[in-house]
Amino acid sequence: MAQYTPMIQQYLQVKAEAQDAFLFFRLGDFYEMFFDDAINAARELEITLTARNGGTEDKIPMCGVPYHSADNYIQRLIEKGYKVAICEQMEDPTVTKGMVRREIVRVITPGTVMEGKTLGDKSNNYMVCLTGNANTLALAACDLSTGELYVTSVPYSAEWLKDEIGIYEPSEFVGDAALLDVVAAQSSPIGRPVVYTPWVKSKGDLVRQQFGEAVWARLEPERQECIARLFSYLSETQKRSLGQLTQISTYEPEHYMILDPFTRRNLELVETVRERSKKGSLLWLLDRTETSMGARMLRRWVDKPLLQKGKINERLEAVDTLYNQFILREDLRAELKDIYDLERLVGRIAFGNANGRDLNALKQSLYKIPRLRQHCADSSSATLQQIAQVMDNCEDLRDIIGQAIVDEPPVSVRDGGLIRAGYHERLDELREASVNGKQWIAELEAREREATGIRSLKIGYNKVFGYYIEITKSNLAALPEGRYERKQTLANAERYITPELKEKETLILEAQDKMVDIEYALFTELRDKLNLEIARLQKLAEQVAEIDVYQSFAAISAERSFVKPTITDGYNLVVEQGRHPVVEAVMRDGAFIANQTAMKKDEARILLITGPNMAGKSTYMRQVALISILAQIGCFVPAGQAEVPIMDRIFTRIGAADDLIGGQSTFMVEMADIQVMTEKATPRSLIIIDELGRGTSTSEGMAIAQSVIEYVHDVIGCKALVSTHFHELAHLEESLDKLANYSMAVQESGDKVNFLRKLIAGAASSSYGIYCARLAGLPDSIIERANGLLHGFEHAAAQVAVGSETVVKLSEREVFSREDTSRIDTSSIIREENVSLEPNEPIERSNQRT
Ligand code: ADP
Repeated sequence: MAQYTPMIQQYLQVKAEAQDAFLFFRLGDFYEMFFDDAINAARELEITLTARNGGTEDKIPMCGVPYHSADNYIQRLIEKGYKVAICEQMEDPTVTKGMVRREIVRVITPGTVMEGKTLGDKSNNYMVCLTGNANTLALAACDLSTGELYVTSVPYSAEWLKDEIGIYEPSEFVGDAALLDVVAAQSSPIGRPVVYTPWVKSKGDLVRQQFGEAVWARLEPERQECIARLFSYLSETQKRSLGQLTQISTYEPEHYMILDPFTRRNLELVETVRERSKKGSLLWLLDRTETSMGARMLRRWVDKPLLQKGKINERLEAVDTLYNQFILREDLRAELKDIYDLERLVGRIAFGNANGRDLNALKQSLYKIPRLRQHCADSSSATLQQIAQVMDNCEDLRDIIGQAIVDEPPVSVRDGGLIRAGYHERLDELREASVNGKQWIAELEAREREATGIRSLKIGYNKVFGYYIEITKSNLAALPEGRYERKQTLANAERYITPELKEKETLILEAQDKMVDIEYALFTELRDKLNLEIARLQKLAEQVAEIDVYQSFAAISAERSFVKPTITDGYNLVVEQGRHPVVEAVMRDGAFIANQTAMKKDEARILLITGPNMAGKSTYMRQVALISILAQIGCFVPAGQAEVPIMDRIFTRIGAADDLIGGQSTFMVEMADIQVMTEKATPRSLIIIDELGRGTSTSEGMAIAQSVIEYVHDVIGCKALVSTHFHELAHLEESLDKLANYSMAVQESGDKVNFLRKLIAGAASSSYGIYCARLAGLPDSIIERANGLLHGFEHAAAQVAVGSETVVKLSEREVFSREDTSRIDTSSIIREENVSLEPNEPIERSNQRT
């Protein structure tokens, strides 16, 4: 260390506090990086790597970015999954003797970004803290930009962890190293880099200070610990008060429908499977929101369908009113569209980086509130009326901004020009002095032109010399000797001053300096005032968001002729004229064919659907799941009529061939998922299995498919939609009384197979694979041979199936029970495949996927 220059020594000391970040070390007008940081940053940012003497024989690698354009570089590093520590000069270098003190003022990380394009308007940016032990697991999630903070805990479950992470899609994790390893092993599900920082420091006292003893005391110990760790990380990185975090929202996972990441993906709830884009997803279809906070709330609702009938009906009631009242809906939309992102504005106010324009955006948004509220109060919806009743117009906040800030303030808050005239007496005086001074100078210019007769005489100003009188060389002869004091000689002009001019200059400049200082002080005073009201503004933002989601639901429901579902606590799911909302919306040619669904406790609750490829099986099965989800988030559904029971969970499993995971044993993954399903599904769940058992040989696949279906039928007792290309399985209808065969109708006319996309009772009659092969013009000999082989296979398959003790008629069949699950010993199948997979270690299994 000693060999380095003092500056490099200081650098190294600061760097020691930010080992895992790029250190942006402020030197004058630049942020400089040294050593490895410099080498890496030069590569990542494509900037020039240089070197400087640092006291050692070898030069030290260095690169830098100008401080005024640093934001852009910081953002690029953050997007790549790095952290950036900002080290500023803490003293004024012009008045400091020796080295100025330098300190890290903030560490920017992917989960703590406050501005810039890394933050999507319509999406949250979560940072998640995970803590726990073998018994409990706690999760806290925070979006620093909007001020949301959630915490929950569950008995330890790696499955749950995976499900929950799939919802938050965090950009950063902190917490227990072991848990971070678990999530890290599931490779980023979001296609962008994610940062993991093991973190053990835990500052409970900070949380208590921030939220109060009462809030703290109400938290379970494991939740306290989790929040305390998250908070400790936030305070160590942000190094400032986090006023935007005003409340801790605790929630219980069992209050929401459980959707595992695979199901969410497969149903394309928030993004499509192939392009991973929002366009084409359910969220995309539903999003008619006008505000960013509405869009984010919509996403949260889609992520967490409700389980309480009362709450769902509250939402449906509001949607119903808006559905039927076009004018009211349009009125609300008209107000909403001019409301800015209140949550993020408030976040910036709390964070201390809001400027005059942000405050004006807040003010303009607040002007929209009274009418929005009035529309809700006047509506016939009890839900909307209730929101109106508790809504706070925040007029006082709107007015204090309006009184202080000019209509078009500059971006910077440090250069003046943002406080209104009449707001502050001293400021007005100074402004007048400055205006008068300038006026005096203009008059002086006119007077001197007159007195000297030099028409081109002018008074100018620059930073170095201040005000001066300038006379061109050609006019110098006309200037009386000794009239002014010479100050500077240029190539073709002379510049002069007079004592009077300098006196006025001092007055003007002093006034200007003071004005800037006063304006900044007034601005921060105002910001601090608003800072105290953040909880009110956040509450308001949430209410606005909720109204926005209702109108969005109503708008899309009206546009696409959805109907209000009847929510029941019962079992039966009955849908008339059901449609797949997204497929229908994007279909260009022809109309979507609606289909009915009836899954009843005492009739058929398992629908076994056969039919050739492309017949519409998976579309139909997904449509049933989406209708349930739509109903449970409180939206209308694409149907003619729908009775929807509350479901606690939807599982989907699609066959190996459709699986997008390359290189893995997809059959194994399928079996592991089926295992989770057998363990977790309840009678209130919905199971969707598309092409069960496709990933293995025909006979084995069929045996497993049958055995799983029997288990679902006998033991779980939930509703299930199963599609299969083993039309041999149709015989199950005879032995399982709650299973019914269905197929997608296909019409053959001459050379053509016409898909009718109509669900009809009964199994499909033939295999269209070979039929299609013939249509495609394969030689007759191949077709004949294939027919012969098929016959042989089917015969053999039937033999195997009969041989396996599960295919027996109901009278002889031993019925499964939860206690005796040895019949579907998937682990034995797995062992045959010679891959170790312990059924009791869901973590291991989950690693196989995504
Ligand atoms: P399968 O699962 O039987 O192979 P899909 O469900 O993938 O068939 O459907 C194939 C295509 O048929 C879909 O891409 C969709 O465009 C169309 N389709 C499916 N169901 C319908 C329907 N009910 N009405 C109109 N077109 C449909």
